[in-house]
Amino acid sequence: MEKQNSTPSGSAFSDYVHKPGQSERRLFIALLALFGVLSSVLLLLLYIVPYYGYGRISPHLPFLMGALSAIFGLALLGSLGLLAIVVAVGHDVPFSRKLRSVAMKVLLPVLIVVGRLAGFRREEVQHAFVAVNNELVLAHCRNGSPPRTILLLMPHCLQDSDCQVKITHRVENCKRCGKCRIKDLLTLSEQYGVSLAVATGGTVARRIVIDRRPDLIIAVACERDLTSGIQDTTPLPVYGIFNERPFGPCLNTQVAIDRVESVLKEFCSLRQG
Ligand code: SF4
Repeated sequence: MEKQNSTPSGSAFSDYVHKPGQSERRLFIALLALFGVLSSVLLLLLYIVPYYGYGRISPHLPFLMGALSAIFGLALLGSLGLLAIVVAVGHDVPFSRKLRSVAMKVLLPVLIVVGRLAGFRREEVQHAFVAVNNELVLAHCRNGSPPRTILLLMPHCLQDSDCQVKITHRVENCKRCGKCRIKDLLTLSEQYGVSLAVATGGTVARRIVIDRRPDLIIAVACERDLTSGIQDTTPLPVYGIFNERPFGPCLNTQVAIDRVESVLKEFCSLRQG
């Protein structure tokens, strides 16, 4: 079967996955700033355009509407600024935790639109989102909330497409033939004492999370599933790792096992410490 390069950055992909950090953080903060500027201009226009109409209704209405627009604008800019500080310092600051939780749920679609206006592809914004999320999850666990229970959540497309073994309900059914990464993931789950589950889609993944109630999820998936999974499970921390798709989407996908192991090792060291 011919290989396709469907990963977002071609040959730089593995570097991108292995070294989340400054570039994603800068992109995320730049998009927050751009969103702040655009929404301020929009608020100003929404106030200025009907300004004279307000005056005909009541002489006090222009001032009232101006005050409301200013309060809304300041609240929005304050929230974006606080979020930018959290991303810049890499951990929560006072009043930021609840805000971060809300932002993770609602901000991504807005940042994708803002990113497009600035010439960034959807996948670049999604990678920045996941990298920033990962840093914050790691910082959250390092700063007093180490996970006791960890779930490795994998997509079904990691399984070899010719394999007849049913692993979605019970991953231990795997015969460990080594044709796909499920064998290595099983070994890791046993070695580090964490649970492993394979999901066929978002609904099944949500059910697994509800059933097992882990403190932390280390999830492998494509851009779309990973970002929507992080948004769905907030405030439950999800550390995301993108899969690799040498044969195109959803078929015999791959994951860097050494990357999964290093992340697992880091979280387990916190758990033991
Ligand atoms: S490692 Fe397990 S899941 Fe993968 S092909 Fe072999 S038996 Fe099937």
